[in-house]
Amino acid sequence: MDRYRVKPGQQINLTDYDPDDKSVFDLNKKTGKKKLKDVNKELETLQETLYAENKHKILIILQAMDTGGKDGTIRHVFEGVNPQGVRVASFKKPTEIELSHDYLWRIHHHTPAKGEIVIFNRSHYEDVLVVRVHELVDPKVWQRRFEHINAFEQLLADEGTTILKFFLHIDQKEQKERLLARLQEPDKRWKFNPNDLAERKYWNDYMRAYTDVLNKTSTEWAPWVIVPANRKWYRNLVSGTTIVDTLKKLNIQTPSFKEDVQGWIDKVQTL
Ligand code: ATP
Ligand code: MG
Repeated sequence: MDRYRVKPGQQINLTDYDPDDKSVFDLNKKTGKKKLKDVNKELETLQETLYAENKHKILIILQAMDTGGKDGTIRHVFEGVNPQGVRVASFKKPTEIELSHDYLWRIHHHTPAKGEIVIFNRSHYEDVLVVRVHELVDPKVWQRRFEHINAFEQLLADEGTTILKFFLHIDQKEQKERLLARLQEPDKRWKFNPNDLAERKYWNDYMRAYTDVLNKTSTEWAPWVIVPANRKWYRNLVSGTTIVDTLKKLNIQTPSFKEDVQGWIDKVQTL
C-alpha cells in the first residue's frame, strides 16, 4: 500500500497519479468486492479489541472533490463495525460562532478519545482548500496554516493518536458521470447539489490547492494516502487495507484479566 503514501518531504504532482489505477490488487470488481468483505471482518475484530483495550485513538481524515466518494467509503469500509466506539464528524461551512474562533477550535473537540475511531468527513484541510480557492481569507493567513496543521497533528500524535489521511482522487470525467447518475437515479437525487456545478469550475484551482496540501502536510505522524478513486471497489479496498495494516502494527491487545478466574466462577455458580 506504500505506493500511494506521500513520503514526508516528497514533492508529488497529482498528474502522476492515475485515478483509474488498480495495480496493487490484481482483481476485478466482483473479486475486489469479495476481498473487501475479508477486510471488513478484520477491521471488525481489530476495532472490537481497540475499544476493549481503551488505549489507542484513531483519526481517519477523508478529503475529496464533490462526488469523490467520502460517504461511500465510510459506508463500505466500516460495514459491520460496532457503532459503539466509531464516530463520524462531518465538517460543513462554519457557523458564525465557529468563524469567530480560530479554525482549529471546532476540530479539536471532535478528535478521538482512547479506544475510539473517529472519521473526519472533510476537516481542517478545508481551511487551506475551499478557503484558499474562494479567497475567503488573505493568502498570508492561509499560507501560515500548513505549519499550524502539522503542529496540531503532531500534538495529537504525541498524545497517542494514530492519524491517517486519505485523498480520494477522481477525475473530472468521473465526476460528470456521478453527477449524472445522481440525477438519473431517483433514489440518488437527494444527493444532487446544484452548487457542485459551480464548484466544478474551480477544478484546476482545487488541484493546485490539494497538491500543496499533499506536499506540505504529509508527515511521519500524519501521512497522506492518495487513493485512486474512479473505481469505487478499488477505492474501498485501498482505504480499508491501509486502515487494517495500520491498526495491525499497533499491536492492540485485549486487556488481561488479572483476577482469579476460577475463584470468580465458583462465586458466580453459588449465586
Ligand atoms: P455530500 O457528499 O453530501 O455533498 P459534502 O461534504 O460535500 O457532502 P455539503 O453540505 O455538500 O457536504 O458541503 C459542505 C461544504 O462546506 C463544502 O462545499 C465544503 O467545502 C464547505 N466547507 C467545509 N469546511 C469549510 C470551511 N472551513 N470554510 C468554508 N467552507 C467549508
Ligand atoms: Mg457536497
